[in-house]
Amino acid sequence: MSGSAITIAIDGPSGSGKSSVSREVASRLEMDYLDTGAMFRALTWWCLQRRIDLSDQLAVAEAAAELPLRMGIDPHEPQTVVGEEAVDEAIRTPEISSQVSAVATNMAVRSHLAQMQRQIIADSRQLGTGIVVEGRDITTVIAPEAEHRILLNATEEARLRRRGSELAASGATQKESQVRDQVLRRDRDDASVSNFMTPAPGVHGIDTSPLTFEQSVAAVLDAVASHPPTQPEGS
Ligand code: C5P
Repeated sequence: MSGSAITIAIDGPSGSGKSSVSREVASRLEMDYLDTGAMFRALTWWCLQRRIDLSDQLAVAEAAAELPLRMGIDPHEPQTVVGEEAVDEAIRTPEISSQVSAVATNMAVRSHLAQMQRQIIADSRQLGTGIVVEGRDITTVIAPEAEHRILLNATEEARLRRRGSELAASGATQKESQVRDQVLRRDRDDASVSNFMTPAPGVHGIDTSPLTFEQSVAAVLDAVASHPPTQPEGS
């Protein structure tokens, strides 16, 4: 199956498999891929570089407006560039993971990044490539008109186990309490501004708890192939 100028919106909590699955789906369908979490992480990194107090909502919102961010949307080589610097590794540290929710719950920040996200989606559609966009509010706020809207979820136990193995594989030594903070506390904070734990009306839910990575990819591809595109909300 090859890509067309459609949007596949995928939301889900930490450890649901959302990022890796979305990227693989984009790659198989020859579509673009946008990791919106990387955008919030990049802004968090940029604020910390500039020693901006993350609890200063106005200063963080101003930083969001000035953020020189470029997103590389090739699923084979996604890139997050701030100014001239590729920050892909720098934005995945435990320091960023533990602080990103403070930035993501700033509503002025969400509005700036939403504008960028919608522009990237529009460009990709106009070019005829189509795009898989993943995050927390893509199915509900950023692209409720997407042809396919999917929410990936998994039990708390499965999410903790996956995130723990991911961190171990990356060589990070993390205590169980730190993994819990990065999954459960972060999701709780993020959930105060977006609904990504239960599928909104018209959104197809997939429980990835019992599924391997390959099976999760297959479940999303199957949902895309077998379900008619969802209707835009309000139509
Ligand atoms: O998906 P990832 O864990 O990289 O996302 C990092 C953070 O970005 C989330 O914890 C959340 O605070 C924020 N985020 C968001 N809305 C999105 C995507 C991510 O608030 N659409």
